[in-house]
This record gives sequence, structure tokens and C-alpha cells, in this order.
Amino acid sequence: MSHLGLVVASWGNVSARAGVSGLAVVTPSGVAYECLTQEMLDVVSIASGRVVQGRLRPTSELELHLAVLRAREDVGGIVHTHSAYASAFAVARQDIPPILEDLAQAVGGPVVCARYAPAGSRELAAHVVEALGVRNAALLANHGVVGVGHSVAEALRVCEVVEKGAWVHAIARGIGTPSTLPPEDVRRLRAEYVASYGQPVGRS
Ligand SMILES: [Zn+2]
Repeated sequence: MSHLGLVVASWGNVSARAGVSGLAVVTPSGVAYECLTQEMLDVVSIASGRVVQGRLRPTSELELHLAVLRAREDVGGIVHTHSAYASAFAVARQDIPPILEDLAQAVGGPVVCARYAPAGSRELAAHVVEALGVRNAALLANHGVVGVGHSVAEALRVCEVVEKGAWVHAIARGIGTPSTLPPEDVRRLRAEYVASYGQPVGRS
């Protein structure tokens, strides 16, 4: 996230479902990525949010991660970033339509902007679950992006593709009127992608 320029300092956060244990590994709050070590990660109960292992306070967006892990059994990894172009859509409170094939493949439809709620709140967590639906990314109004996948690696790839899609959409608007892929093509692209490349990778 840090090397890809998707976050600044310690903003953004990551979680991974720990198999079928009912636990998740989450990043701690306020630690700069270049200082983060494996020992600093927290292990939390997905059901209760209780920290079962770890000395640092978990990410302030713990509720968001837990709500998505509870709502989506297919999700093994969640990455939340504050990348610039996707954040611009979140500020404009506009969805990013499926304008590119890689976006349709990775997300499975539009990146819907969740209704606004303050960072770290349960309301925000509920709004993000609603905006995600069965897709793999959502925008957080006036805040950033969340990408999900079978693994953290896939969730990070989703965040990269969303940022590129937002960037391209912004450029295309300056050139002319962006065309959105038809829903039947989005469905086909996603289905082919899941069948070919969307196998669970690196899920622990
Ligand atoms: Zn954030």
C-alpha cells in the first residue's frame, strides 16, 4: 500500500481472516508502515471484536473490517486506502462506473459510494457493507476506498485497479464523455475472471 502510493503515513488499514478460526489479523492503529512488524499485528475475534493477541490498539476502522468479514464469508482479506483519484470520487460522492475491463473483472460492477458516516463508526461499517453488496470494492464518502478479496493480495490488487479506474475516468471526462461497459459485458467479464484468475490465492 505504502510503496504503491495508495496511503500516506499510517492512514489506511488491512485485515486478513485467519481460516475458519473465527479470528482475523488486523493492523494496529497509528503505526507507520515502514515501522510495522509482524509482532505488532493484532488478532481479534470477528464475532466480538475482542483482541485475543497483540499489545497495540487495533486499527480505528476495526468495526468496518469486522462488519465486512461477518457479512461476506467469501472475503479473506480487506484493504482500506486513501488513494487520491478514488478519494476524489468519494468527495464528489459519485460511484466509479465499470468503464474498464480490468475494473469490471476485479470489482464485478460499479464501485458504489457508501453514504457518509464518521470514520471508525458503526454507521460507516454498515454503510460500507450496504455499498459493497456482492462486489469487491466500495468508496467511503469524503474518506477513501475499501477493497476486498479472497486474500489480502487480491484486495490490494482491487484497490490498485480501482485507483487506476478513477484516474482514467477523470482523464476521460476531460477528453469527452466516458462510456460505461454494458451490464451483460460486466457480468461476463467478471464470471470469466473468477473462473480463470479469481481462485483463492494466499488465503491462510
Ligand atoms: Zn481511512
